[in-house]
Amino acid sequence: MKIALMCRNSGLYSHRRLIEAAEARGHEIRVINHMRCYIDIASARPALHYEGERLEGFDAVIPRIGASATFFGTAVLRQFEMMGVYALNESVAISRSRDKLRSMQLLSRKQVGMPATVFAHRSSDPGYLLELMGGAPAIIKLLEGTQGKGVVLGETRKAAESIIQAFSALNAQFIVQSFVKEANGEDIRCLVIGDRVVASMKRRGAEGDFRSNLHQGGSAELVRITPKERATAIKAAKAMGLNVCGVDMLRAAEGPAVMEVNSSPGIEGLEKATGIDVASLIVAHLEKEAKPNRTRTKGK
Ligand code: ADP
Ligand code: GLU
Repeated sequence: MKIALMCRNSGLYSHRRLIEAAEARGHEIRVINHMRCYIDIASARPALHYEGERLEGFDAVIPRIGASATFFGTAVLRQFEMMGVYALNESVAISRSRDKLRSMQLLSRKQVGMPATVFAHRSSDPGYLLELMGGAPAIIKLLEGTQGKGVVLGETRKAAESIIQAFSALNAQFIVQSFVKEANGEDIRCLVIGDRVVASMKRRGAEGDFRSNLHQGGSAELVRITPKERATAIKAAKAMGLNVCGVDMLRAAEGPAVMEVNSSPGIEGLEKATGIDVASLIVAHLEKEAKPNRTRTKGK
C-alpha cells in the first residue's frame, strides 16, 4: 500500500512507530504535513498539492491531527476522502470527537455510561448548577482543554462556585461533572481498533493529583479490564464513528464512566505499559480495510 501519514512532527514516538511498522510490513509511507498542503477545490477533480506536486496514488491515510490544527487538518483529510483514499479515522468523526460536549451528547444517546454532566455557557446561578450534580466536590472542565490542563476539582461548595464564576466571567465554555471519588485518581485507557480493544492501561495521577494524565506526571501500567469495560469502550468508539481511538474511562461505583474518546491516541504509554505492538496492529487494520472508496462519509 501507499500510505499518507498526516502529521506535523514525524519525530514523535507514535509517528516514528507507525512509519517503522508500515515499512516493516512492506508498505510505502509518506509523511505529509497537513498545514503545508494546498486544497484544490475549484478543479474538476478534488486534489491536494504538497511541496510543489499533486498528491496521487494513495491507498490509505493515517490522520494525526493535533487539537490546535483541527479545522485545517480535517479539511485536508476530507479532501483525501473525496479523492477516494481510505481514512483510518474519517474527518467527520474526528471533528465530532474534538468537541467534548457534542461527544458526551452522542455517547449519552447510545447509553454509554458517563459521569453526570451539565453544560452551561455562563452561569448566573452556580449554586443551582452544582445542585444538579449533587453538590461539591465537583469537576469543572474547559471544553477546549487537553492533557488535563483545563480540568479543575472544586473540593468545597465555595471553591466550586468560585471556579464556575471565574470561568463564566472569562466567557469560557465549560462543563460541570460529578466527581468520581472512588476512581482514586486512576483511569483506564482502552485502545480500540475496529471492533476490538487491543490494549488497555491503568493510569495513575502523580501524588496528590486527581488527574491521571501522563502529561501531568501520571504513570501507567498494564491492566485487565472487565467484559463490561471492554463492551463500553467498543460502544463508545462506534457511537463516535472512530475506527481507531483511545477511550478513557473511570471505574465508578455504577460501572465504567467514559470521560473522553480520543481520535489521535498517543501509543507510547500503551506500548510501554503493555508490550503490545500497537503500531503494527494499526497498519494491519489498514491492510484489511483500505479498499478504494471505502470511506463512508466523505466529509458529510
Ligand atoms: P483531558 O481531556 O484534558 O485529559 P479529562 O476529561 O480526560 O481531560 O480529565 C483529565 C483527568 O482528570 C482524567 O484522566 C481523570 O483522571 C480526572 N477526571 C476527569 N473527570 C473526572 C471526574 N468526573 N471524576 C474524577 N476524576 C476525573
Ligand atoms: N453530519 C455528520 C454525520 O451525519 C454529523 C452528525 C453527528 O455528528 O452525529 O455524520
